[in-house]
Amino acid sequence: MNNPDNKKWSSRLSNELYGVNEWGADYFSISDSGEICALPMVDGARKELSLLKLVEDLRERGTDMPVLLRFEDILEEQIGRLNQAFNHAITSMDYKGQYRGVFPIKVNQQCHVIEEIAKVGAKYGHGLEAGSKAELLIALSHIESEESCIVCNGYKDEEFIDLGLHACKMGYKCFFVVETPAELSIIIERSQILGIQPLIGARVKLASIVSGHWNATSGDRSIFGLSIAQLVEMVDALKAVDMLDCLKLLHFHLGSQIPNIRDIRGGVIEACHVYMDLVEEGAPMGYLDLGGGLAVDYDGSKTSQIHSRNYTLDEYCTDVVDVIMSTLDPEGIPHPTIVTESGRATIAYSSVLLFNVLDVAKFEPGPLPETIPETEHKLIHDLQEALVSAQTKNLQECYNDAVFYRDEVRELFKRGQVSLRTRSIAENLFLKIMHRIIKLADKSQRVPPEIENLKGQLADIYYCNFSLFQSLPDIWAIDQIFPIAPIHRLNEKPTRETIIADITCDCDGKIDSFSNMHETRSTLPLHELKEGEEYYIGAFLVGAYQETLGDLHNLFGDPNVASIRVNTDGSYDFADEIEGDQIADVLSYVEYSPQTMKERFRKLAEKAVRKGHISASERQKIMKAFSDSLSGYTYYEKE
Ligand SMILES: *Cc1c(COP(=O)(O)O)cnc(C)c1O
Repeated sequence: MNNPDNKKWSSRLSNELYGVNEWGADYFSISDSGEICALPMVDGARKELSLLKLVEDLRERGTDMPVLLRFEDILEEQIGRLNQAFNHAITSMDYKGQYRGVFPIKVNQQCHVIEEIAKVGAKYGHGLEAGSKAELLIALSHIESEESCIVCNGYKDEEFIDLGLHACKMGYKCFFVVETPAELSIIIERSQILGIQPLIGARVKLASIVSGHWNATSGDRSIFGLSIAQLVEMVDALKAVDMLDCLKLLHFHLGSQIPNIRDIRGGVIEACHVYMDLVEEGAPMGYLDLGGGLAVDYDGSKTSQIHSRNYTLDEYCTDVVDVIMSTLDPEGIPHPTIVTESGRATIAYSSVLLFNVLDVAKFEPGPLPETIPETEHKLIHDLQEALVSAQTKNLQECYNDAVFYRDEVRELFKRGQVSLRTRSIAENLFLKIMHRIIKLADKSQRVPPEIENLKGQLADIYYCNFSLFQSLPDIWAIDQIFPIAPIHRLNEKPTRETIIADITCDCDGKIDSFSNMHETRSTLPLHELKEGEEYYIGAFLVGAYQETLGDLHNLFGDPNVASIRVNTDGSYDFADEIEGDQIADVLSYVEYSPQTMKERFRKLAEKAVRKGHISASERQKIMKAFSDSLSGYTYYEKE
């Protein structure tokens, strides 16, 4: 706290820097004491939970970093917000249909999450969407209310269809959404054999194309769904077996994370016209399923950029209801039940990944001699000259010179013409010049692009205790941006520009793209580490898609998970604690047998004893270390 900058720094400035209030959606904010807090709503009042305190609490219980926190209250509130927003739009516009959301299981299949969604969803009739047999089994065993829908997308075989038909008979609202013409004949056949009336939906490919990351699901060439021509064939096929009365639902899915509300409106209008014509054809219909796509504002910019959205939840609901009414009303078509399959927007907010920093690499000049000896190589004097002459008006020239001289020294070194020590002085001088240039560039208005990039190139690397591939795979796979910020010390000025590296030692295992409201930046400001004190960082809004996509890169397994439920008095319980993978677990995922490995190692140790390399009691100790490691956490553990 003796940094003079801190007098001028405050939580408010940290808030501007990391945008917590912008992306936090009232679920996260920075406290006056400089800590990021979760703000779950409990019995109508927001409670303030410091994430740092949670970490300390977990560590006391033996739960180590990295840890994924799940806030059950936030998930519950988010499902409430979605349903209330639709219900509000429906009531205020006098829409005659209802809203029935379904949560797509693929977005987060974790048992605890689905249990929670099913429980909270029951009071809104919020159901589940299943894309496979396994997911249908999950849905069937969790749905509690007969009001809730189960929507079955994806390819369906006979077994899948039989299961769904039995569910219909039991009273579930279980829809088969037909994705391909082939599927329809199995549905018809099985329902005739079993004598059960199916609830049939049709997934249609719309011509409307949306912008954003995941737009491959829209347009003529999208992989899933029926073309308009195939849809007409489907109607005819159903008519032919006198089953058109089973066609009740129209489904479309434009893609995930749709940033622009105009695209959503466009899709709904097109779908409404399909819907109307299906009614004209004589299908009873009654349900219009808009799929997913409701976006999360990951960068807090509230714009139509890919990591954001240019609409609020209320606008989304109002627009959907408005478009449906204004398209169907002139034709006198009754208002359908509106179904949406929002996954991302439902679950993203409730999870936070927390990790600690293990080490830092800085790109700063080491110590230099007080004065450069006359006898030193001429290039060293040239570098020294470049350092002294650097000014705001000659930044580019100075940069060019420094790079040239340094490269010359490196060349000469390769030819054995300068010594290791001379090269070391050159490298240090070079770094010193670069840092001076960055400082000068901060003060000047127009900065050449090469120098703009220098900041990123000289940024510290903060080595952090997590695996990107396991816990934040979308950063690697699709350049997704998540809000990332330290969870404490936010009333101190962060003085380091950094990039984040995970512990997989893979050059892809890094984060060097951060949200900064209206632009992305290549470095993240963080605090200088303090001797003997942990530094904790949070990656936020990570509840959607990250957990199950993760792979075992370098055999780092699932992190520890803690679910938090807050009580009325502000105290909290760890409703669920799931220990992350042990090393033995991840080894068995790739078909090793930890028992056999132990046995092999034991034999090798025995041989070493026989040869006299180690003593019998040393063997005992080594074997114990081997066994302990097998049952240890795959991440870096503190002693
Ligand atoms: C992935 C998917 C969803 C979920 O989309 P979000 O954008 O996460 O809401 C919904 N429906 C279908 C058919 C999907 O494939």
